[in-house]
Amino acid sequence: MMQFNVAGLLKGPVGGSQRHQVDETSLALEDAQVKRLWGSITLVRINEGVWVKGNLQARVVCTCSRCLRPYDTTLPFLFNETYHPTVDVTTGVPVALPDGAEADTTIDTHHILDIEEVVRQDIILAIPMKPLCQSNCAGICPHCGKDLNETSCDCPQEMVDPRWATLLGLLSTTKK
Ligand SMILES: [Zn+2]
Ligand SMILES: [Zn+2]
Repeated sequence: MMQFNVAGLLKGPVGGSQRHQVDETSLALEDAQVKRLWGSITLVRINEGVWVKGNLQARVVCTCSRCLRPYDTTLPFLFNETYHPTVDVTTGVPVALPDGAEADTTIDTHHILDIEEVVRQDIILAIPMKPLCQSNCAGICPHCGKDLNETSCDCPQEMVDPRWATLLGLLSTTKK
């Protein structure tokens, strides 16, 4: 569950809180697949609205940047966001959002607070820039394309970068 009805919390005093368990079986992201999302979050009534904090973990399928194989990894992340109401909880009158408040962090007119969009952004940020299936992943041979974790190949270890090859060729001709 990533949507919470916070009408009761909003009607209550500042400092009032609720604790919820999150356990989602899947969540679609553009670049990665989340198999499971779990953890606990606390919703706290503050003057501006509801402050949501939590410790969450996502089981994500990443693609190794060296061998290009998919692998599972668990990414823990902290959730910390303030949500603003769009209507007054007792009168139903629309309320202006404070400067800088984003649509992702508003509580809708039915007092539903939805953490999904921010969770999505948090997971994307938690995914490493260059994911590795294992720290010593041998990767793929750039010459023959074999996965060097599974097999070895006979390609020369030190292949010269083609951009340098031209230059080296020039040098060897001028020496003669
Ligand atoms: Zn790998
Ligand atoms: Zn090779």
